[in-house]
Amino acid sequence: MQLKGRTALVTGGSRGIGRAIALALAEEGADVAVNYVSSETPAKQVVEQIRKIGRKAILAQADVADFPDTFRTAQDVLKEFGHLDILINNAGINSDKTFVKMDHASWRKVLAINLDGVFNCTKVFIDQMIKQNYGRVVNITSVIGQIGNFGQANYAASKAGVAAMTKSLAKELAAKGVTVNAVAPGFTETEMVEAIPEKVRHKLLEQIPMRRFAKSEEVARACVYLCSSDGDYITGAELSINGGLFM
Ligand code: NAP
Repeated sequence: MQLKGRTALVTGGSRGIGRAIALALAEEGADVAVNYVSSETPAKQVVEQIRKIGRKAILAQADVADFPDTFRTAQDVLKEFGHLDILINNAGINSDKTFVKMDHASWRKVLAINLDGVFNCTKVFIDQMIKQNYGRVVNITSVIGQIGNFGQANYAASKAGVAAMTKSLAKELAAKGVTVNAVAPGFTETEMVEAIPEKVRHKLLEQIPMRRFAKSEEVARACVYLCSSDGDYITGAELSINGGLFM
């Protein structure tokens, strides 16, 4: 139980990688607030699963792109848990189109959720983390932010932005007991990757030295590592979980 007594919020904890992270944190002893934007039933199921593990769990509905909404939910979480130790900024979307076809709305939406969302959620908890002289912030970036991708200018920009923000915050907060790291998954078996046409999936697999996609649980274990005492001396890192796709 590496996280016994810790409290955590996972944004986008209702599905995919976020769900796996919420469950992995709970398995290690953390109480977890599960954020989602619209999928209430899956989010409730994650909460139920965490309670079965024997940990406290609450729903924390909010649109991470909406600052007042994240502020409201942060107040609810702090009221319920008393404090927050671990923030996993995982919520994210993609809206893929070549740059020529990409409209401004699609650019803004992806940046609003993937990049502004990390600002909003970190902003509403950071004072309390500094005050308690302890915090673990993990931002889920992507291999696409490191190498770029056809049809993903908005997504790649958002993730590269989060990676740069991670390093800046890590420098600002290192002496205040708060570490800030990123985990950069490669292609991971979630609805996001299931939506990729079979032909393209096949081509992607050929480019991955390990010839398989990541499991959400593999990304989740990296988050647990960074939030446990094993990761105490790590800050400003971007940990790649990509089967060798980018090295
Ligand atoms: P997913 O299965 O599509 O789940 C997305 C999650 O984000 C859901 O819980 C969703 O909530 C939540 N979300 C979306 N918009 C939100 C908003 N405005 N406010 C709050 N929550 C919101 O995605 P995933 O594949 O697990 O991806 C999770 C993270 O990993 C993302 O940041 C993604 O960019 C990153 N990533 C994924 C891969 C991959 O291959 N899958 C690779 C690299 C990085 P609802 O259920 O309520 O919609």
